[in-house]
Amino acid sequence: MSYFSKKVFSINLDRFATIYVNEHETLLKPGSDSSADYVFISHAHLDHIYKSTQDSGAICSEETFLLSTLRGIGLKRVEEPFPLFDSGHILGSKAILIEAGDETILYTGDINTSPLGNIPRQRFPKVHTLIIESNYGNPNLVFPPRSELVKEAVDYLRENLSKNRPVVLMGYPLGKSQHIQMILDGLLPDVEKYASPSIIRYNDVYRLFSLTIENKSIMYSQSQALPKGYNWILYYPNISGRNAFMQVLKKKYDAVLTVFSGRSLLEGYEEALGIDKAFPLSDHADFKGLLEIIEETSPQRIFTTHGFSKEFSRELRKLGYEAYDLNSMRGKCIRLF
Ligand SMILES: [Zn+2]
Repeated sequence: MSYFSKKVFSINLDRFATIYVNEHETLLKPGSDSSADYVFISHAHLDHIYKSTQDSGAICSEETFLLSTLRGIGLKRVEEPFPLFDSGHILGSKAILIEAGDETILYTGDINTSPLGNIPRQRFPKVHTLIIESNYGNPNLVFPPRSELVKEAVDYLRENLSKNRPVVLMGYPLGKSQHIQMILDGLLPDVEKYASPSIIRYNDVYRLFSLTIENKSIMYSQSQALPKGYNWILYYPNISGRNAFMQVLKKKYDAVLTVFSGRSLLEGYEEALGIDKAFPLSDHADFKGLLEIIEETSPQRIFTTHGFSKEFSRELRKLGYEAYDLNSMRGKCIRLF
């Protein structure tokens, strides 16, 4: 039985993706000043954690609760009043299904239809209304096949290591860094491996939930004791290649700087970051993946949010869907039911 099924209800949605169900409010993503009854924290990336949740019950996974605490944001986690589905983005990332009478609304949070490194993704149910992230909601943003991309990355790493050039592998410290370790560590068995302290602490949380990540030595940016040899790789948060520590590694070792990010599909990415090479290995669905979600949920109405939300809603309308860009609904509140 759905949570609100016995009540007379109405559902409204505003541009901050606050869902109002009768007198109950559920905030789906951060950005609103509204103090809601529930706030849904889809995952523990900082742009998705609503900070003022002291008065609101937080709907989230156990993993997100733990990671948020580790990031210094205490949540008052409540028993899940709505069903949650694994969204394939990072450890503990979820989509939420809100059922009210005959109306069903699914909010994806950040989503990946081809998850990296054993992150689970569940099939979503068919719904009336879909609220979907659109980070790569532009028809030009399609990633190359995963196996080709991994092979290209490993060949590149091996080639540089064979020339005595160590490699720095940069990615977002929570999620991407763990995922590239899970993919690449096993393919580089004979290489010394280091990681930054910020990455190591999230590795520990991944291990708590049975996701295996090889142990690594910590490399501190202030450290005087840098490796003696040249046969090593370092997992590091994504920063500019012009950063002082990166410059030290370049000078001392002729190190190669690589970044793993879907954003590298965008024009001029490597030059802007001052790095040697970027690989579009992403924790988000690309344009094709987003269309897969539309097909899977076959919604009657779609709201797009984040990234290319305007472009994506336009593409969806071309395909015959009733689609709206949530970010452009200035001040408006839409009555969904
Ligand atoms: Zn995210």
